[in-house]
Amino acid sequence: DKRRLQHLVNTPSITPDGKALRLDANISSLKELDIALAGGAAGVGLFRTEFLYMDRNRFPKEEEQLAVYRSVAEKLGGENLVIRTLDIGGDKHLDYFQHPEEDNPFMGYRAIRISLDRKDLFKTQLRAILRASAYGNIKLMYPLITSVDEVRAANEVLAEAKSELDAEGLDYDRDVEVGIMIEVPAAVMIADLLACEVDFFSIGTNDLVQFTLAVDRMNEEISHLYEPFHPALLRMLKLTVDAAKAQGIRVGVCGELAGDMRALPLWLSLDVDGLSMSAHSILPMKERVLLTERKACSGIGEKLQRCRTSRELIAELQIFMDKLD
Ligand code: PEP
Ligand code: MG
Repeated sequence: DKRRLQHLVNTPSITPDGKALRLDANISSLKELDIALAGGAAGVGLFRTEFLYMDRNRFPKEEEQLAVYRSVAEKLGGENLVIRTLDIGGDKHLDYFQHPEEDNPFMGYRAIRISLDRKDLFKTQLRAILRASAYGNIKLMYPLITSVDEVRAANEVLAEAKSELDAEGLDYDRDVEVGIMIEVPAAVMIADLLACEVDFFSIGTNDLVQFTLAVDRMNEEISHLYEPFHPALLRMLKLTVDAAKAQGIRVGVCGELAGDMRALPLWLSLDVDGLSMSAHSILPMKERVLLTERKACSGIGEKLQRCRTSRELIAELQIFMDKLD
């Protein structure tokens, strides 16, 4: 199958009726970037920076981070590179960091919460990302945002990092865009307010499903309840996309559901701007995008919103896809 789709590697991802749906890759390292580019990714919609921190026995220095971010940016040329600030805690621990004992680590001391608590670490990372932005098309993204205050607090540290670089005469992209992950129901419910504070949204369905359904994404006992096609999630997606559109900011999806072939009519009906997924999903998804009319999907949106169960929703999507074939 991989070989069969090889000719699509450099083909832009556009529906037959002209809707461009970006297909970017989720990566965690420079090595994964090569695989993603060979696999037909347009750019990187989610660079998970955790592994840069996990690969060591101490925090990576600014220069070390800069070297990695810069290499990724340069390899991408002018293509999109969304770098997410550190998202440790939850299931990802650093050996050299004092993670607290927690009953609910996914709802605990993690992601932007650590960054805002340890501004020293946060600022080092922001400085490295900013400096790398002089070498490519870098966008910044904050994980696990739940409030407007968090965005503003993070942006304050960003502003400090910028003035430091200015004072030191170090170059960076002055217009670097700032976006947030939408992966907590609170963020969905205030998406209209958050949209006024940022340049783009990226919906993280892995955490959003977990928190919407109160189903731990790591717990095998209840994995049958982890339903990305639950009608509640569909409503969350709709609220988020509508809020982004009303404010005129871009909105993409970067959780596992982004790469799920069954969901493509849903993404086209919601009219999201892009999908970011594991490298191996890109070519099969691109093949489908090239065959799926966006106009044909606009009608399915309302139908899907009326579904009462995940099973109904999945069946509806399947019927729609079968009709296209
Ligand atoms: C998500 O939560 O959907 C996401 C993309 O982030 P991660 O899987 O790294 O938590
Ligand atoms: Mg997440």
